[in-house]
Amino acid sequence: MGRHYLQIPGPTNCPEEVLRAIAKPTIDHRGPEFQAMGKRVLENIKPVFKTKNPVIIYPASGTGAWEAALVNTLSPGDRVLCFETGHFAALWQTMATELGLTVDFVPGDWRHGVDTDVLAERLTADTAHEIKAVCCVHNETSTGVTSRIGDVREAMDASGHPALLLVDTISSLGSIDYRHDEWKVDVTVAGSQKGLMLPPGLSFNAVSDKALAAYETAGLRKSFWDWKPILDANASGFWQYTPATNLLYGLEVALRLLEEEGLDNVFARHQRHSAATRAAVAAWGGGLEVQCLDEREHSGALTAIRVPDGHDADAIRKLILDRFDMSLGAGLTKLAGRVFRIGHIGWFEDLSLIGTLGGVQIGLSLSGVPIKKDGVDTAMEVLER
Ligand SMILES: *Cc1c(COP(=O)(O)O)cnc(C)c1O
Repeated sequence: MGRHYLQIPGPTNCPEEVLRAIAKPTIDHRGPEFQAMGKRVLENIKPVFKTKNPVIIYPASGTGAWEAALVNTLSPGDRVLCFETGHFAALWQTMATELGLTVDFVPGDWRHGVDTDVLAERLTADTAHEIKAVCCVHNETSTGVTSRIGDVREAMDASGHPALLLVDTISSLGSIDYRHDEWKVDVTVAGSQKGLMLPPGLSFNAVSDKALAAYETAGLRKSFWDWKPILDANASGFWQYTPATNLLYGLEVALRLLEEEGLDNVFARHQRHSAATRAAVAAWGGGLEVQCLDEREHSGALTAIRVPDGHDADAIRKLILDRFDMSLGAGLTKLAGRVFRIGHIGWFEDLSLIGTLGGVQIGLSLSGVPIKKDGVDTAMEVLER
């Protein structure tokens, strides 16, 4: 009875208006109705990235947009600097290596964001400017840590290094403050199924003028991901292949909902739910710990919670799914069984957070984690303030 609680940090719950838009009949993707919609969506997407430049939309998962960012700007053997902030940063650097790039992977403990001191050191030491790109994951969905991209930009500017800045915002766009133009990001990678409140299936590259210039000499092979044919077709509101028509209907509505709420209010809502969740974790005690260790880096989109030794986070998640029909995020690779993740991202409000935390509280208690049963009350006090 009732609805399924989908409290993983993506895919997220979709507003009913979005789902209704997606359910409309499919139209001719070469006809005038599509053309008008294509033009609107390509324009309306820009404010979410805070950019005036083009945004390329692919019918693909976020992983595809990762690949697009690399193959459109870089050449075989190019050196790229990546930071091990967690599972997704590790996957992106593996992809870069597989594509024939030379990756410098700065190790990390999965509890902090990009270390801007190390970034500054590496760039300053690279006087020959061999590093062609710096790749950062803005919001590490595996750890609940948000890297400070504004500080990354400052460190890059201070070093006077010309490397491109490529940023993965797949789980932060539309949920955490992000500024493509102001932070002079060259390619921003995003996906539909997290902060944008859509089902999976769309992904994005927002590009800078510098990225478009890098495209001209980028030697990695590409076909489907090639920016140019898409940008050419987009100029008249079309794609050269069949776009995901119905997801674009949904995107148009989702963008309107974000605009109506106001991006700053959207970000504040996410931060507030994150703060209430952390207050619950602290009140539960029992050896639970928030995975993120830096007060400046707590993610508004999700909270990853470490379970005490002797407890299995996956067993706790299974109990909660069986008992309350609520899905929580699993610990990924290095964190498997060690953490569970509460998604408080997308189409989400106070009462759903209270329900979510209530399910987690009972689940922890039934699993024998020695918590105090006042996490939900404490979260409610935060929400009341
Ligand atoms: C979800 C996610 C991805 C992967 O996106 P897919 O759509 O599953 O390909 C990559 N990076 C981050 C930060 C993510 O949250």
